[in-house]
Amino acid sequence: MKKIVLLGSTGSIGVNTLKVVKTFPDKFSVEALSVNTNIQLLKEQIKVFAPKVVAVTDRAKAKELREEIGNSIKVLEGEEGLKEIAASSEYDIFVGAMVGFAGLAPTIEAIKRGKRIALANKETLVVAGELVTSLIQENNAELIPVDSEHSAIYQSLVGEKINEVEKIILTASGGPFLHRTKSELDSVTIEDALNHPNWKMGSKITIDSATMMNKGLEVIEAFWLFNLPKNKIEVVIHPQSIIHSMVEFVDGSIKAQLSTPDMKLPIQYALTYPDRLPASHVETKFHAIKNLTFFEPDFDKFECLKLAYNVMEIGGTAPCILNASNEVAVEKFLTGKIGFTKIPYIINKSLEKIENHKHPDIAQIFECDKETRLFAGQLS
Ligand code: MN
Repeated sequence: MKKIVLLGSTGSIGVNTLKVVKTFPDKFSVEALSVNTNIQLLKEQIKVFAPKVVAVTDRAKAKELREEIGNSIKVLEGEEGLKEIAASSEYDIFVGAMVGFAGLAPTIEAIKRGKRIALANKETLVVAGELVTSLIQENNAELIPVDSEHSAIYQSLVGEKINEVEKIILTASGGPFLHRTKSELDSVTIEDALNHPNWKMGSKITIDSATMMNKGLEVIEAFWLFNLPKNKIEVVIHPQSIIHSMVEFVDGSIKAQLSTPDMKLPIQYALTYPDRLPASHVETKFHAIKNLTFFEPDFDKFECLKLAYNVMEIGGTAPCILNASNEVAVEKFLTGKIGFTKIPYIINKSLEKIENHKHPDIAQIFECDKETRLFAGQLS
């Protein structure tokens, strides 16, 4: 029986993780859960999964929850509540399914304890890849990606040697604006941008998919996860999202992992690796799919993807600046304060303005995140 800590339990990865846990009640139990604000769904999850402790980032909501459920379980609050769960609960697997920079601090606590980290929170590796990967080695922790593309690459690399990899090819759906022109992007609405063709996800990652920043973050994530030269990470548009990503080897052979899109597959793999357990989450019928198509990404139209490649090259705190300004810009777009094409504009301005630090320590990363948010917050 493996004990699981799941931070971000009411988001799309969190909900799917609990579905996987429910499929194998004799293999997994839930030790702790956390949410930002959604205590309604958390209450239902508490009834079904009986965690020993929960954390609610929003303090008013934490108080509300305590009043409703009494002393039956421990309710922690604030960002330090997430850290405390990661640092002091008794568990085997840490599932990091929080959104954005907030995932970093608790993930580091779990790494320091040498746990298995099933990581869906890609921002952790984007902002602190160098630090996180060295901490993983020092502490003998294990990092298994939950992001579907990285899970596909991870699966394709089983039994292979990393020095025999020619390149990795991340697939991208292209999002809702694949067939719009660059000038048409000026006038797209929030509803247009939230209308993802293949995946049902939270609003932040859905906007990131529409700008293709999501793929940009994934390129940086792949760089840290697989320790490959930067020019060996490619992106190809594949609108059907059936091939989740590919690895090409030095002999020209290519391995891919495929299925009908369903996040329960990469989540389950991260929980059960190196084993596979029987489950009937999805069916993949090739005669129904018929066509798999591919395009080159348009770096001119999807400026965010280009910016991500640039900051990967620059290194230091540049990816942290990119991430923080993107989080601010996406929030502004979602609340109707800026238009869609102002997202790359705000990121660009922030990268120009904020000073870069090479090989940042954790304090410098937090400082950079804070400084960038302050600056980007004033732009429109
Ligand atoms: Mn992904």
